Amino acid sequence: MIKFTNTGKEYKNGVKALSNINLNIKKGEFVFIVGPSGAGKSTLIKLLLKEEDPTEGKIYLNDMDITKVKNRRIPFIRRNIGVVFQDFRLLPNKTVYENVAFAMEIIGAHPKEIRRRVPMILSMVDLSKKADCYPDQLSGGEHQRVSIARSIVNNPPVLIADEPTGNLDPETAWEIMKVLREINRRGTTILMATHAKDIVDSMKKRVVAIEAGKVVRDEEKGGYENEV
Ligand code: ADP
Ligand code: ADP
Repeated sequence: MIKFTNTGKEYKNGVKALSNINLNIKKGEFVFIVGPSGAGKSTLIKLLLKEEDPTEGKIYLNDMDITKVKNRRIPFIRRNIGVVFQDFRLLPNKTVYENVAFAMEIIGAHPKEIRRRVPMILSMVDLSKKADCYPDQLSGGEHQRVSIARSIVNNPPVLIADEPTGNLDPETAWEIMKVLREINRRGTTILMATHAKDIVDSMKKRVVAIEAGKVVRDEEKGGYENEV
C-alpha cells in the first residue's frame, strides 16, 4: 500500500534529512515510527503528504508513483490519507459536528451523506453528546477525538498520526490509542510517529526506528528501544 524505495531527501540548505529509505507497508498494518528529534520522522510524513518532494528514489501509494504526480493532482492523493496532529488543529468557530462535516464539505460530499455519516463517526469516537460544543469547551482528549473523527470521516485507506498523544496525559493518551486501534481493526492502515515509549511497548505493533535519516530498525511486534 505504501512503499519507499531508496528514498532520500536533502533540503535546499544541504541538510540530508533522509537517505536510502526502503519501507514496504501493507494494507491494514499499524506502524510506529520512532526516533529522536531531528531523526527525519516529520520529513517522512511530509513526503507521503507531498508537502515535500524526495530528492532521491520513489514513493508509491496504492501502486501509484506519487513522486511523479502533478501539483494539481495533489488534492486527490491527499484524499487517501487522513492526518492527525499533536496540536489538534480544529476550527475554533465551528462546533464539533461542523468541524467533522467541513472535512466532507470540502471534498464535495452530498449533504444527505454528510448528515448520515457525521453522527455515525462521532458515535464511534464517543462524542455524540458533544456534537454542539465548540473546541474551547472540550478537554484535550475530546479535542483529539474530534480531530481523529475529522481525519477518518472520508474513509481514507491510510491514517497518519504525528505525535497524537504528545499533548495528553497518560490516561487520555490510552483512550486515544484505543480509538486508533479500533480504526485499524476496521481496516485502515495507520502510521504513527511517537515518543510515547509505554504505548509503543505495550501495543506490540511494527516499529520502524529512524536515526539520522536512516532506518536503523524495522521489527514486527517491536518495542520503543532496541532490546539489549
Ligand atoms: P523529526 O521529525 O524526527 O524530529 P525532521 O524530519 O523534522 O525530524 O528533521 C530532520 C532533519 O531535517 C533535521 O536535521 C531538521 O533540522 C532538518 N529539517 C527539517 N525541515 C527542514 C527544512 N524545511 N529545511 C531544512 N532542514 C530541515
Ligand atoms: P481490548 O483489547 O479488549 O480493547 P483494552 O483496550 O482494555 O482491551 O487494552 C488492551 C491493551 O492496551 C492492554 O493489554 C494494555 O497493554 C493496553 N492498555 C489499555 N489501556 C491502558 C492503560 N490505561 N495503561 C496502560 N496500558 C493500557
